[in-house]
Amino acid sequence: MIINDPEFGEVVVRKNPLSKGARFSITPSGRLQMSVPQYASDFLIRRWLKNRENRELIKANIPPKNPATQRARDAKKKILMKKAKEYLPYRLEYYAKLYGYHYDKCRLSHAATRWGSCSSNRTISLNIGLMQVPEILRDYVIIHELAHLNHMDHSAAFWQEVGSHDPRYKEHRAKLKKYSPGV
Ligand SMILES: [Zn+2]
Repeated sequence: MIINDPEFGEVVVRKNPLSKGARFSITPSGRLQMSVPQYASDFLIRRWLKNRENRELIKANIPPKNPATQRARDAKKKILMKKAKEYLPYRLEYYAKLYGYHYDKCRLSHAATRWGSCSSNRTISLNIGLMQVPEILRDYVIIHELAHLNHMDHSAAFWQEVGSHDPRYKEHRAKLKKYSPGV
């Protein structure tokens, strides 16, 4: 089956009995290929393709066709990295001190799909793309990752801790979904 997508062009859909969900890849000719389980209905396939998170992932992984686009992206990344270096580690330190958290290291990342992470060795990663979102949402991500120092999950206790520092976290979390961390 081939779906004509307004953004991605012709999408080749292949049924694969081993697939558990939708998987996306780029064919050597540059077309988007979608591998789906045998049971997937046309409705489900279209829904997977419309899924916002899937689309972000696809966009982040499609090789840019134009070298100028790639150069512009590299330049933008460089500027963001510079801004992020001068801001994010200090903002993190500020909130950690304010709320009494102890982390080990702050790393800057440019992952295409996540704003931040906190690992069990107490390293907090923050995405340089945060420099492109409003400060209040940036602060929410920092508080979210700091709260993971005490709760390595998204349990009720975790959200309660986030809420104690950012009472409007639900609104901030929803607003952040309108942005993509990919540069
Ligand atoms: Zn989290």
